[in-house]
Amino acid sequence: MALATFKGGIHPPGRKELSKAHPIERAKPPKQVAVPLSQHIGAPCKPVVKPGDTVKLGQVVGEAEAFVSAPVHASVSGKVRAIAEYPNPMGRLVPCVVIESDGEDAWVDLVEDADYLSLSPERIKEKIRQAGIVGMGGATFPTAVKLSPPKEKPVDVVMLNGAECEPYLTADYRLMMERPGEVLEGLKILMRALGVKKGFVGIEDNKPDAVEAMREAAASLADVEVCPLEVKYPQGAEKMLIKAITGREVPNKGGLPMDVGVVVQNVGTALAIHNAVRYGKPLVERVVTVTGRGVAEPRNLMVRVGTMVSEVIEQCGGLTEAAKVISGGPMMGFALSTLEMPVTKGTSGLLALTEGEVVHARDFKPCIRCGRCVDICPMGLMPSMLSVLSEAGQYEECKDYNLFDCFECGSCAYVCPSKRPIVQFVRLAKSMTKPG
Ligand code: SF4
Ligand code: SF4
Repeated sequence: MALATFKGGIHPPGRKELSKAHPIERAKPPKQVAVPLSQHIGAPCKPVVKPGDTVKLGQVVGEAEAFVSAPVHASVSGKVRAIAEYPNPMGRLVPCVVIESDGEDAWVDLVEDADYLSLSPERIKEKIRQAGIVGMGGATFPTAVKLSPPKEKPVDVVMLNGAECEPYLTADYRLMMERPGEVLEGLKILMRALGVKKGFVGIEDNKPDAVEAMREAAASLADVEVCPLEVKYPQGAEKMLIKAITGREVPNKGGLPMDVGVVVQNVGTALAIHNAVRYGKPLVERVVTVTGRGVAEPRNLMVRVGTMVSEVIEQCGGLTEAAKVISGGPMMGFALSTLEMPVTKGTSGLLALTEGEVVHARDFKPCIRCGRCVDICPMGLMPSMLSVLSEAGQYEECKDYNLFDCFECGSCAYVCPSKRPIVQFVRLAKSMTKPG
């Protein structure tokens, strides 16, 4: 049978072999962390601690005041040293709660709930909200908000995204291999929260052992199906995943998965949901793939949120001849301007590329109208026009070409023979206009 897939897309080299055989190891406990008060899409948090306060591991240090927001928690126990600004991967300065560890890792009181699958949907959502859980595939949308669709948009399917289609990254792969049962418990909790009878796990077919591990763990669950997907980028984008697995098409012009009755969560998020709802644990750590030819010893590490990127890379033997370090994968990640920047809930990978692997944006040429970008755009857009109009400063005109439907997957830039930085042009146009 043909594997589930979607139209368009590309096949960049996977390069997963660098880190995929490395089981998840705990990173060394950091001596100091800088926990960003904004590490999600939505409103930043308000700090609720001040310099001099002592905090426990898992204590709330930033409260969410808006609906689309998520609280942040101390990832070590110790003393608050400052509220100071650090850059985020997008280059913006973000206020952070700087905590010096006392080395004790003394947790706040955690209340375990053995009967977690009997909790009411409202209670589950509340626990997820309090634990500060956001989409860990990189999008960082607050999870509790995604689990509260309006009544007129009933959801009948929950989908776990285990595609991990970005080259190099293996964090989700390792989680599915090592902790499939807990990931599936997270899916069951999600299905209960949404009152849904059908759950899917989508995994690219280049990870047959992960498909096997998840299938084995799901063998007794009649309402959960593990679906192998064609290996194609960006298979893990929500809209592509939904089309491939259910055949449903999320409408263009701002349509959302809930418009076709689906909620998608990343497998790492499912694990965090299980930890939160069952054990009361807030989101204070995550798996980060540290990889690339520019790093001495590629690995998958469980890293506390707020640990400096430089410290994480140091634990992997340091950089060798890296020309560029990217937060995330090579297609959708952000090039870092400094390594003195904290890991956040959305840091799926740290990728060090060597000079030979880097394309310098300044070397791009004019569009030759070859049409390659149009052929591969999974959203059916005209990336050539978006880049040409944005380059000419005609940002408003980009809206006529459905600017806001572009989810910045980078496929167009990858195939462009003129090496045009199409995604950067798209981001620029988005920042210079308002949706609508
Ligand atoms: S225009 Fe946007 S959605 Fe289309 S290929 Fe380029 S980055 Fe991806
Ligand atoms: S791939 Fe590049 S050169 Fe070809 S049409 Fe698209 S933007 Fe123009």
